[in-house]
Amino acid sequence: MIPFLDLKAVNKQYRDALIEAATRVIDSGWYITGSELETFEQNFAQYCGVKHCIGVANGLEALTLTLKAWMLLGKLQQGDEVIVPANTYIASILAISSNHLTPVLVEPDPVTYNLCPTNTQAAITDKTKAILPVHLYGQLADMTQIMEIAKQHDLLVLEDAAQAHGASIDGVRAGSLGDAAGFSFYPGKNLGALGDAGAVTTNDNELAETLRALRNYGSHEKYKNIFQGTNSRLDEIQAAMLSVKLDHLDDEIAQRRQIAKAYLEGINNPALTLPEAYGESHVWHLFVVRCEKRDKLQQYLADNGVQTLIHYPIAPHKQQAYAEWNDLSYPVTESIHQQVLSLPMSPVLDMSDVKKVIELCNAYQP
Ligand SMILES: *Cc1c(COP(=O)(O)O)cnc(C)c1O
Repeated sequence: MIPFLDLKAVNKQYRDALIEAATRVIDSGWYITGSELETFEQNFAQYCGVKHCIGVANGLEALTLTLKAWMLLGKLQQGDEVIVPANTYIASILAISSNHLTPVLVEPDPVTYNLCPTNTQAAITDKTKAILPVHLYGQLADMTQIMEIAKQHDLLVLEDAAQAHGASIDGVRAGSLGDAAGFSFYPGKNLGALGDAGAVTTNDNELAETLRALRNYGSHEKYKNIFQGTNSRLDEIQAAMLSVKLDHLDDEIAQRRQIAKAYLEGINNPALTLPEAYGESHVWHLFVVRCEKRDKLQQYLADNGVQTLIHYPIAPHKQQAYAEWNDLSYPVTESIHQQVLSLPMSPVLDMSDVKKVIELCNAYQP
């Protein structure tokens, strides 16, 4: 079986360094908010090209706490509208609704699957206060236009960069394109911990300071609580794992790009629509093709020893969790969810396996 993502093989590349880092933490006797976190925060901030990185427990919390911090700072209020692509992973939307803000779902660009500037512009009302673009599958949303719209209407922009560590435009990386960004270091992400972890990046000093308190019970100083915060910290051991892996992120992105290039050049079956990518803006967290008979293609590949996944099978507005939206119609989003299929993609995928996947895709008969 050609696996979709062999995480064991990904981490095995760095086994000795990971064990050394874990040992260092174990022997230090200091397991939460210490020097490992500080080092990783500094290095990841530098990598993204921002002043601040604030480690938190996971990607969802990175987004949720940023919006919460903006509420505490008086920049957002309950009921304010936040524009978000309708086809995103549900976390982006949960971050909005859990803060009692109102998610406004908009149809994505049907080619890039990212937030469509025209639809964004059309969705703006008096209550709109923020935009939450998602760099879906690893490709940057059209941040030039989105930031322009935000400037015109005085809106905050929170990037969901959970799938796009290292994606860049004109040398400017994800995490530094909006007012703030949320990252996930879930094990399967392009920069993955060996457990849950996440971070916020920003150039805003006040936001950074608020987040540092929020993640730690609303406290800057032990036993002195200025906010009703939460416990959302990035463990020392995960920070140490992430520091090892951050050093190899660019090499891994290069591997992903090589695989994507092979797929793009090799697959020529008209039944499959290939992704369109622009320059360095794509880091290929996922290589997503579209196919009218998606389930048939997936079954065919499985029968021939290729594991694929669907990102994602059910649109957020069709989820039971958001029953109030179930009758709404988002045709672009719905067709994406019916047709997308993610081919094997990882920095350790063998080129001979890539070749096999290409041959199988080309031999597929719809
Ligand atoms: C993974 C992901 C998240 C959430 O990250 P977790 O660390 O799993 O909480 C948020 N948004 C997107 C687009 C993601 O892919």
